[in-house]
Amino acid sequence: MSNASDIHRSHRVGWLRAAVLGANDGIVSIAGLMVGVTAAGADHRTVLVTGVAGTVAAAMSMAAGEYVSVQSQADTERADLATERRQLREAPHRELEELAGIYRRRGLDPALAGQVAAQLTAHDALAAHARDELGLSETLRARPLQAALASAAAFLVGAALPIVAALLSPPARVEALVWASTVIGLLLSGALAAHAGGAPVLRGALRVGFWGVLAMAAASLIGRLFDVSV
Ligand SMILES: [Zn+2]
Repeated sequence: MSNASDIHRSHRVGWLRAAVLGANDGIVSIAGLMVGVTAAGADHRTVLVTGVAGTVAAAMSMAAGEYVSVQSQADTERADLATERRQLREAPHRELEELAGIYRRRGLDPALAGQVAAQLTAHDALAAHARDELGLSETLRARPLQAALASAAAFLVGAALPIVAALLSPPARVEALVWASTVIGLLLSGALAAHAGGAPVLRGALRVGFWGVLAMAAASLIGRLFDVSV
């Protein structure tokens, strides 16, 4: 039983990590975009429009990319299952022996491996082959739409941080406030991800903060190169 709850815990951490990564992506890329155009001399309104347009475009692009990637994974799984179903129909004895071989390689003695293979085949042959031969399980079964919505939503949550900061800040302070909110947001999300994964919190926070600051500094530098107001 303790084994099963460990697996659940690591699934949850994986899901949370993906959400935090998507949110960081939203924070860093949109804050970088806004800091870049601010450094290039753009006015308050242009900075906000850039942030919102960039957010919509990037969130949709992430959702589409995720959908296509998970969908093609689902297509591969479906094709694998179809092959398996055909083999079970055309060569049931070979498939039974294949399954027994898998259990022997995992450490069962030949008699027990044969028994397990026979019982699982009688119970649900396709499920046994999907799980033990192909490594597919119900929880791993790809869900393209869900994955697409989740990654877009995580990105939107992250991107909202620099946009709201810019919206609330006086026009002359946009760059400073976007910087500050981004650094704070990244430190918090880095700490959260580290805490959820059981890793050292401070190190996780600083690592995420460091790369975010580097990306923002690069965007700001590029903006300054294009500064039209000097
Ligand atoms: Zn098989």
